[in-house]
Amino acid sequence: MREWLFLECPECSNRNYRTNRSGIVNTPKVELKKYCRFCRKHTTHKEKKK
Ligand SMILES: [Zn+2]
Repeated sequence: MREWLFLECPECSNRNYRTNRSGIVNTPKVELKKYCRFCRKHTTHKEKKK
């Protein structure tokens, strides 16, 4: 079963990326440095459920 997660930018609250849990099962909280095109910089995106 596939569980989709969204990675949300903390500064503008846009959900810029979508991922699934396969591969990151053992990580309770996902935080990834990703480029936010709304802030036009890298921010630490946090996972959000759908
Ligand atoms: Zn942003």
